Amino acid sequence: MIERRKTRQVQLGDERVGIVKIGGDAPVSVQTMTSGYTYEINSCVAEINRMAAAGADIVRVAVPGKKDTAALKEIIPQVSVPLVADVHFHFGRALESVEAGIHKIRLNPGNINDRKQVEEVIAACKEKKLPIRIGVNEGSIIERKDKQKRLKELGGVFSDNKHGHFLAIMITKLEEYLDIFYENDFYDITISAKSPDPTLVIAAYTEISKRFDHPLHLGVTHAGPKETGTIRSVVPLGHLLAAGIGDTVRISYANDPVYEVEDALEMLYCLGLRERKGVDLIACPTCGRIEVDLFTLVQQVREIMADEIELPIKVAVMGCIVNGPGEAEGADVAVFAGKQRGIIYVQGEKVATVPEAEILTALLEECKKFEARVKAG
Ligand code: SF4
Repeated sequence: MIERRKTRQVQLGDERVGIVKIGGDAPVSVQTMTSGYTYEINSCVAEINRMAAAGADIVRVAVPGKKDTAALKEIIPQVSVPLVADVHFHFGRALESVEAGIHKIRLNPGNINDRKQVEEVIAACKEKKLPIRIGVNEGSIIERKDKQKRLKELGGVFSDNKHGHFLAIMITKLEEYLDIFYENDFYDITISAKSPDPTLVIAAYTEISKRFDHPLHLGVTHAGPKETGTIRSVVPLGHLLAAGIGDTVRISYANDPVYEVEDALEMLYCLGLRERKGVDLIACPTCGRIEVDLFTLVQQVREIMADEIELPIKVAVMGCIVNGPGEAEGADVAVFAGKQRGIIYVQGEKVATVPEAEILTALLEECKKFEARVKAG
């Protein structure tokens, strides 16, 4: 069981889209971000609703222009999850988003750092009781014009760490920025410190978690294509979460954001940080002992169970007798295959032997019966 770091809870949303709590004792929430233009209202709404259906708790949208913040007024009533406005460069977009009914604002200290402007955003959010995420991404936190000077000034502070330069600048920036919020008596804050470098992500969030009690939004930015981005993301985020650090997560791929949601949820299920919805499927990788088409069977089981089974029952699909019986004992429902047939177990008891062509149907039937028994108590 992971012992999570206690953070100062914030919340966003309303009665219609639901309240999502971040930090404190709230479950780790899953976020993602739309990939299309916010001003294309119909496609933006459709994308948000697809993300919500996949399990996203919160969705962020980019608002680079006035036409984007104007679109929010039409988008918000058509979606069922809280929305965050991702604001860069123009503090006016934050004010317009608040006015349009957004549920949270994200600010970047690297490009909105005029004190008066930040205070205006704080005042607007305070009035509507909206939280603000301060996102100190590696790529934008250091002003390009004085980067070398700042690195020289601050680099020694964390000299025992190979990421010392960034950590020094990040902590300094965060402290300066947070002071503006504290001086305005504003504490509904979450913090992120993303980088494409997984070891820097671990170092940054670990350092922040020691210094501030605000909820942490974990992420690896620009993680790349899903094929490699999964490992790049899950290694540092899993490391931090297992250490109790992190209150909300966003995985980011150069791909359909629905994959981000699915993989973030799977990561949280694996760590026991969220209650699984649907089947917990384990399967063998196959080897020279295999006598059935297990890869096809596993994909079919995955697809059919996603549609048919709601409860988190553990299902094992094993290729032969070597590990089959052992896994069958640990699963609610299991099959191990051999000689073009499948032997099906329910809670360690053998219940049927069926030809290969009937394994899928028989397995599903046993899963449904098991689920019905669990539901009946
Ligand atoms: Fe190979 Fe059997 Fe293990 Fe599957 S269960 S990997 S087929 S030994």
